[in-house]
Amino acid sequence: MICNYKVYTSFKYTYKVITKLLLYYIVITFSVSGYALTFDSELIDGKLVYGQLADGEKLFVQNNYLNIGKNDKNLFEIHPDKQGRFILGIPQDKSELSVVIQKDNVKKEVSFPVSLRTWDEEFVTGLPPKKVSPNQQDNERIVSESLAMRQARQVSDFNNFPNAWQRPVLEFKRISSQFGSRRILNNVKKQGHSGTDYAAPIGTAITAPAPGKVVYIHPDMFLTGQTVMIDHGFGVFSSYSHMSSINVELNQNVNTGDLIGSIGQTGRATGPHLHFTITWYGVRVNPEDLF
Ligand SMILES: [Zn+2]
Repeated sequence: MICNYKVYTSFKYTYKVITKLLLYYIVITFSVSGYALTFDSELIDGKLVYGQLADGEKLFVQNNYLNIGKNDKNLFEIHPDKQGRFILGIPQDKSELSVVIQKDNVKKEVSFPVSLRTWDEEFVTGLPPKKVSPNQQDNERIVSESLAMRQARQVSDFNNFPNAWQRPVLEFKRISSQFGSRRILNNVKKQGHSGTDYAAPIGTAITAPAPGKVVYIHPDMFLTGQTVMIDHGFGVFSSYSHMSSINVELNQNVNTGDLIGSIGQTGRATGPHLHFTITWYGVRVNPEDLF
């Protein structure tokens, strides 16, 4: 048995080495093929990744990738800063990233392998089907409210490249729910949790995690209560839900650490917490990766 185990572990090791070599091979082949695009980190699902384009290169994804209500396959150009740096969000559970790179007026479709993470799952069975979904009237309100937020994410600012991030709640008690965790109700996989929940007493300060501009405010959303959204530029948006007070105005510019509002329990919340999201356009990513 011990012998078999050793064979197994050494096989696992060999497998790891082969995978690594394969990845290097892909990266090398890729640069040999005439493009110099690079990513700063490994490509992982549910992650905001930073990258670098070479002079004269342009980068695109299809409109439907962005999850902002445009479901066609037309190409959307990813706006880099003056140094060619760009940001891109990879959706949860997506094992491949397909982009189009343009150089010398020639467009080429390229796919990168994405490593999948293991996300928390909670199985709930035996629920009456009616309890799993809200009633029609509530549902219509939820849909129209989420549409308004999606539309606000269609246009981002390209003045300041968001480089450094800090948590929006500096004095939280605990993270009560991680990004990506999901409930499996009656064997139906629900979408992963769209953000991070920071539990803290009502009134705890919520501050800006990076510079940006307030692009959406709602005093009473069905699910998220008092809600604020900030555009940090280059497609990155943050949102704040269940607040008890809001200290910013629409179109206001904020700097890192500026007061946005305070923790509450408005909307559908079982206790006081901040539900905090980071999206790249409409692609949800794990905020905790940034801190
Ligand atoms: Zn939440």
